[in-house]
Amino acid sequence: MTPMDRADIDKLRELPIEGVAERLGLNVKRHHCLCPFHGDRTPSLSFSVKRNTYRCWSCSARGDPIDLVRNYLNKSFVEACQWLADENAIIISEYKPEKTMTQPTKFHADFYSFLIGNLPLGSLAQDFLFNDRKYNHDVVSRLDIKSVECSGRRLLDFLRQRFTEEQLQEYGIVSGQADRKHCFFWSPCLLIPYFSVDGSLEGIQSRYLGTRMRFNTAEAQAKHDAIAAKAPRFQFSPGSHPMIFNLPVLKDLKPDEELWITEGVSDCIGVMSSGRKAIAIPSATLLTSKNKVLLASAPTRNWHIAPDQDQAGETLFQAIEATANETGAKLTRHQLPEGCKDFSEYWKRR
Ligand SMILES: [Zn+2]
Repeated sequence: MTPMDRADIDKLRELPIEGVAERLGLNVKRHHCLCPFHGDRTPSLSFSVKRNTYRCWSCSARGDPIDLVRNYLNKSFVEACQWLADENAIIISEYKPEKTMTQPTKFHADFYSFLIGNLPLGSLAQDFLFNDRKYNHDVVSRLDIKSVECSGRRLLDFLRQRFTEEQLQEYGIVSGQADRKHCFFWSPCLLIPYFSVDGSLEGIQSRYLGTRMRFNTAEAQAKHDAIAAKAPRFQFSPGSHPMIFNLPVLKDLKPDEELWITEGVSDCIGVMSSGRKAIAIPSATLLTSKNKVLLASAPTRNWHIAPDQDQAGETLFQAIEATANETGAKLTRHQLPEGCKDFSEYWKRR
C-alpha cells in the first residue's frame, strides 16, 4: 500500500468523526450511538465534535477517526487510512449535520452530459472492464460508462471548449492558479453516470485507473506510482451526491421479477453481466431515507442480495432486510463461495 505522509494522515484525522461513524453504519443521534465494541443496549459511545474523537463510557473504547475505522472494520492502520482516503470525498460531501442534499444545478447537468456525451471508452478502461473484470460489453455500453485517459492539461482544454474558466472554477471543477490549474477528477479514470428512474443524468462517479498504468523504466514507474498511491479510488463529481446506481432498471421490472441489490457499482455491473437486473447502493452503510423510499417503490417484491463477506456487507444486509420487512418484500440472501470477497470477484473467477 501507499506511502502516506504526515499531512495526509492529519487530513484523515480531521474528517468529521460523526460523518465517519455514519459512513460506517453507526446510527448517531445527539452525538451518541450504540457502542459497537461491546454488547451495548443504551448508547454509551459519545462523540466530541470539538476534539473530533469518540469514547465509550462503558468499555472505554476511544480514539480518533482512524482508530474508529481500524477497530470497527478490524483493519490495520494503513488499511484504515486507505479506507478513509477512498471514502473521503463522500464523507465530506455527505456529512452535513442538517442533512440537506443539494440538487445539481443546470450547470452540473450540462457538465455531466458534456462529459458522457463526448468522451469515449478508452483502452485503459476497456482493459479494466472487459479483460480484468470480465464485464459484459452490452451492459457497459447500456450504462453509458466512459473514461478520461488524457493528461489533466488536455482534459482542461477539452472542458474549455464548452465552459468558461469562471464556470469551471465556480462549480469546483477546476482549482489552482495560472499554469498550475488542475481538474477535480484524478485521471485516468472511469466516468460512471448515475441516472434517475426517468433517465435524467444526475451525477457522475469516477473510478481511478492510474494504478493500472505501466511505464517503460523502473524510474518512471516509481515516480508515477508515488502519485497514483495518493489518488482516491472513487470520487463523486461536484454537484452529485451518492445515490442509487442504475435506477432506470426499476421501470422495466415485472412484479415478480428478481431485483438484485448490490453494494457499490462494481458488484452491480458484475451482477448485471451475469444476466440479472440489479441496482447498487453506493456504499454498505448508505441507505438514506430517500434511497429507502426509492427501493420501496420498486415494482417487484422479489429482492436478492449476496452480501460482501465483511462487516460492511453485513451492515448493508441488515439495512436492506429492515426495508424489505417494512415494505413486505421477500429478501433472499445468497452466500458467496468461500474466498470471494464480493460478487465482482466471484464473477471474475467463475
Ligand atoms: Zn463500549
